[in-house]
Amino acid sequence: MPKQHPLLQSFGALLVLDADSRRIQAFSSNLAALVGMTVTDGRDQTLSEVLGKRLSQRLRHELQGQQRLAGPLTFTRPASSTRFQLYAYRSGAYVVVEIEPLTPVGKRRLLGTVNERLLRLTEASHQEELLDYLVRAVQELTGHDRVSICHLDSDWHGLIVAEACGSGLPSLLGQRFPSSDFPLSLRLAYERHPVRLIEDVAAPSEYLVPRDFPVALNDSFLRAPAPERQRYLHRLGVRGALSVAMQSDTGLWGLLFCYSAKSHPVAPPVRDAVRMLVQMATQRLLLLRARQEARYLQRVQDSLALSTKAREEPQSPQQLLAEQADTWMALFRSHGVALWAKGSVFQSGNTPAPEAISQLARRLDKAHGHSGPWCTRDISKEPLTTSLSMPEQCGVLAVPLPVNLAQRGWLLFFRPEQVESFYWAMQPKAFPQGAVIATPPAAWHEEVVGKSEAWQRVERLAAVDLGEDLTLAISAYEISTLNMYLECERKALAEANQRLEQLAHFDPLTQVWNRYRIEQAIDAELVAAKRYGAVFAVLLFDVDHFKQINDSYGHSLGDDVLVSLARLVESSLRGCDHLGRWGGEEFVVLATHSDIEAAAGLAERLRHLVASLEVNKLPQPITVSVGVAAWRPGDSCKTLVARADMAMYQAKRSGRNRVEVAIKEPS
Ligand code: GH3
Ligand code: MG
Ligand code: MG
Repeated sequence: MPKQHPLLQSFGALLVLDADSRRIQAFSSNLAALVGMTVTDGRDQTLSEVLGKRLSQRLRHELQGQQRLAGPLTFTRPASSTRFQLYAYRSGAYVVVEIEPLTPVGKRRLLGTVNERLLRLTEASHQEELLDYLVRAVQELTGHDRVSICHLDSDWHGLIVAEACGSGLPSLLGQRFPSSDFPLSLRLAYERHPVRLIEDVAAPSEYLVPRDFPVALNDSFLRAPAPERQRYLHRLGVRGALSVAMQSDTGLWGLLFCYSAKSHPVAPPVRDAVRMLVQMATQRLLLLRARQEARYLQRVQDSLALSTKAREEPQSPQQLLAEQADTWMALFRSHGVALWAKGSVFQSGNTPAPEAISQLARRLDKAHGHSGPWCTRDISKEPLTTSLSMPEQCGVLAVPLPVNLAQRGWLLFFRPEQVESFYWAMQPKAFPQGAVIATPPAAWHEEVVGKSEAWQRVERLAAVDLGEDLTLAISAYEISTLNMYLECERKALAEANQRLEQLAHFDPLTQVWNRYRIEQAIDAELVAAKRYGAVFAVLLFDVDHFKQINDSYGHSLGDDVLVSLARLVESSLRGCDHLGRWGGEEFVVLATHSDIEAAAGLAERLRHLVASLEVNKLPQPITVSVGVAAWRPGDSCKTLVARADMAMYQAKRSGRNRVEVAIKEPS
């Protein structure tokens, strides 16, 4: 391959210096003609010899330790009224100096115009308005035949979204330019230099003297367009071109192109002004977009927040979907939505059959590991979806809902086919000369079928938000259902415990303490008596001739007698005394804080009380024989009750319906 010598445009001249910025190593062929400097080919001249001492010292000073000058320097040549602009940067082991004449442009007026334009740009409230204003302002500043803005999509195809052009020129608005028009090398060049001026594609190029000097000039503002770029512009009928990159935080958003059919110089201050306008407009554009996206995201979040906040009780996934489906379909520009959670499918609008939804969700769960959404606009081409039967669907946006560690839920949006029409400006290949500038372009119409509308970045972002909120809502619902269930369980358990307690401690017939419980109480009283010497006594009483009552009036009435008697006795006791059924028709009263006299008094009182009891149909009074025993040191429950029992039998033997106090130890 023959060695390519760097070619340069003629609107500026160029010097190559050593790394010290002292000695001239090479220069452009137009240096003498453009700037009036003479450098003898092959002579090792210093910069100060050509530019003067002061300027070269300043250049050296400002470039010290820097890759490039912060801004251009200006100077005038002795005996010349022309002012020049100088810019310098490092390229490998060399310093490249670019010099351009500054044609007078009426700086004051330019500044005023630019300020006014900037002000207007910051007031634009819509993208169309903003870009429209930008192209008109730029055209006014540069005077190019056509100024257009080409937005680059995610595939790097360009779409003309705004233009200003001279009368008689065909509109290119809405036309597409294929990604091949914007190759990577071109896009990278715009990253290094946001502005590119091609003053005249057809002008003969300048070259470096000496020709084979090994300096890279890829970064030079003056570099001549590559041959393929020249051919491209030639095919468009363009000779003069200025383009400015519109960089967003995520990459190249688009390009502003200025085209003219004739050679078109653009003075440095005008270029700077255009660059500033484009930058401001791009910032404004991104701000407008960010605001729009923020509003959209807010609406998506509100959709769920409103319905969950309005209610005290969390809603079931099914209720949520029923309530929000229409809003979500509108927000996500879908014709169907489905929710797959815990193996159940809920759906609304135009969706595939439940089996297909389940299958899709299960496949997604296996294949799509990360937490972001999954989407396609062409389900027939996706390995995950090809074999699923989803008539009427082309696009799916699937949002994982980590409601369960083992298996996630999925929120699925469906879009129908959306036939898209593209008008390609550069197709077919044979493009008539002068087409863009002089005659209408041979637009080539293409229809894209079988795809849904693309899922926008902001829609995917909103889907993540919605997914998170929905997961929370579903989990809240699950927790509340679980809590409800637990609450029921808790109640049932408490009731069972209560029943158990009842069974364990109470006599089922009379509902007074059973023997086990009264024994416990006596034991506790024994402990207290032992420790603090607190006196207490027990009364054991037995119904007299109870057998007769049973025999004469039936067992059931016998039961009634027992119940009435227990109630009566219990209700007449102090709060600190207790009644328990000892067995059959025998009862025990635990009389706390009572010595033997007090207990005997109580026994007497109870005996009287029982005798006054009237039980249904029973002609004779019910009487009891009572044995009383007071605690003595060394007593156990057994010995204490045995003494009372002995006393009670003594009462029986002595004729019944009486109280006997235990005096002696049981033998
Ligand atoms: P005494 O005056 O000697 O105590 O004579 P008594 O008839 O009461 O004799 P005893 O204590 O031997 O008899 C008690 C009877 O109480 C025997 C039993 O059938 C009856 N009985 C025991 N428990 C119950 C019960 O829960 N309900 C009824 N109706 N009768 C019971
Ligand atoms: Mg008895
Ligand atoms: Mg009895």
